[in-house]
Amino acid sequence: MSRLVLITFVLFSQVAYSSTSVCHGTTSNGSLENGVELPSDGNNFVSYSTVARLAGRTYVHSTVKSIIINSYKNLEETMPNTVYKYAETGYESGGKFRPHKTHQNGLSVDFMTPVKNEKGQSDHLPTNPFNKFGYNIEFDSSGKYEEFTIDYDALAAHIVELDKESKKQGVGLWRVIFDPELQPHLFKTKHSEYLKTNIQFSKKRSWVRHDEHYHVDFEVPCR
Ligand SMILES: [Zn+2]
Repeated sequence: MSRLVLITFVLFSQVAYSSTSVCHGTTSNGSLENGVELPSDGNNFVSYSTVARLAGRTYVHSTVKSIIINSYKNLEETMPNTVYKYAETGYESGGKFRPHKTHQNGLSVDFMTPVKNEKGQSDHLPTNPFNKFGYNIEFDSSGKYEEFTIDYDALAAHIVELDKESKKQGVGLWRVIFDPELQPHLFKTKHSEYLKTNIQFSKKRSWVRHDEHYHVDFEVPCR
């Protein structure tokens, strides 16, 4: 091997190494090596908070990051004029992530529920320190909060893309947590069949109501 090739190889493998994360343990008792930060925004998505992002609360496993980014890319095609917002993920090195019980090994991601405004346009739920970055929002049983209505088509399409993209990368979705009382609406969308066959939804009520956000756990091999 010539010296140049060797140097190139060493440099490349270091870059490859540092950009690949390694998760340890479980979502509720784990950690993360080489966690990567989600971008603050893209063509059709934004982060829930600049402050929370600066506080280091939007790190994930590198595989999860690429699944999320590619899914948003695909949604630009399949769901034009639709905007998405992601929320809490975890710390760069994982570990306890209050007030969440999970989010410890880079494989848990919260997404804000996609909504339409009173004009029927895709919009973002408001997320700021005054409503606990959106987590205090409560939808009524018909899926309404102030001028916003849950966009179930956008939500279902997002879950489908996340699942397809995960499989493309040789991993999967472990489970999706979303309010069991609102879930039936997802099965009235055109993605109903796909969701039924491919997605494992939470059946029980969890410790907080998951109406303003949905929680996704990815299945990526950990050490
Ligand atoms: Zn969560």
